[in-house]
Amino acid sequence: MRYLTANLIYSAHTGFVKNGVLVMNNNGVVEELLHPEKAAAYSLQTEFFDGVLCPGFVNAHCHLELSHLRGAIAPHTGFAGFAKELIPKRNQYGDQEITAAAAAGCAELYNGGTQAVGDIANTTHSFHAKLHSPLRVHTFIELLALNPALAGKVMESGKALLNECPQPASLTPHAPYSVSPLLLQSIAASHHAMPLSIHNQESRAENEFFETGRGRVNELYEFLNIDISWFTPPGTNALRSTLPHLLTQRPLLLVHNTFTSLADLQWAETQHKNLHWCFCPNANLYIENTLPDFMQFYRQGVRCCIGTDSLASNHSLSILDELKVIAAHAPEIPLATLLQWATANGAAALNIAEVGSFTPGSSPGVILLRGVDEHTGISADASVERIY
Ligand SMILES: [Zn+2]
Repeated sequence: MRYLTANLIYSAHTGFVKNGVLVMNNNGVVEELLHPEKAAAYSLQTEFFDGVLCPGFVNAHCHLELSHLRGAIAPHTGFAGFAKELIPKRNQYGDQEITAAAAAGCAELYNGGTQAVGDIANTTHSFHAKLHSPLRVHTFIELLALNPALAGKVMESGKALLNECPQPASLTPHAPYSVSPLLLQSIAASHHAMPLSIHNQESRAENEFFETGRGRVNELYEFLNIDISWFTPPGTNALRSTLPHLLTQRPLLLVHNTFTSLADLQWAETQHKNLHWCFCPNANLYIENTLPDFMQFYRQGVRCCIGTDSLASNHSLSILDELKVIAAHAPEIPLATLLQWATANGAAALNIAEVGSFTPGSSPGVILLRGVDEHTGISADASVERIY
């Protein structure tokens, strides 16, 4: 048994506990989080840590199979420019290089304090690395086909990939502009208890494509030599055109939300009862050099969580680096809220009950945050160290 104490211990179910004692058994399972009065009644051999003890982070959105592309894609080219570089480049590497980079990505996540990850897969490249990593994983097998005539074929190949996946996994749509209503409905009807994820309103062009049929999404389809002349824009934006086809009880992660208005947010919350708004701010800076309006989401009190996206559009796979960006741009958001987004909310979005908080019986990992403060927030030089 280990008895861990610190200036502050954070868990979403208790908030901050000052001078509390976290009791961990030798298998990394939480026995109890004791308040100081109760801890004082026992004479415990405590280990003191200078900083904030927190459950391991949950990275709700990553693409480990793109880890070999760190630094390979030019920043700030916008979503179409990014995709035009990514699509040919991702296949210019050997299988061994891709799988080795995925394994290094898993290690980077774990060493950076991440306990669980929601990871997108289009191929088998990340499966082995995730299986042999201490990370808890939910794999999203990502499907794309804007043309409804391809929906059946794409579902079949998705199911084949799903059968090869050794972790908990579910089929998921890529993004509004790359999936037809028919494919969305087929995906939503599959694997009922599992979470869903979709990239949402990452660029202004996505809304434009659905509202008017014009803009940079067309540039991407021209580059890919895919004829979409048959496409009729529905006249409502990307989120409003997509969400009605995904109305299930399943947790749904909306990833990015950079161009989601307050009206969109409020409307979406009335439509779907299990929404999770996932932010990947460093990827937004890398690709679009724009950020979501974090305060808008905070003020509405909706469930937010954090991802890193891939190393093709990020310099690290560190959740703390993502929190630093949010803290710098929205300093009014309290530290406890940011930590909730980075832990328990991600666990709920991914449906992984054993991580994200220090509830007895769970195994969330334990990390030590330095350079963070309940009143002043997260400093630019804050650091994270894994304790358990
Ligand atoms: Zn992504």
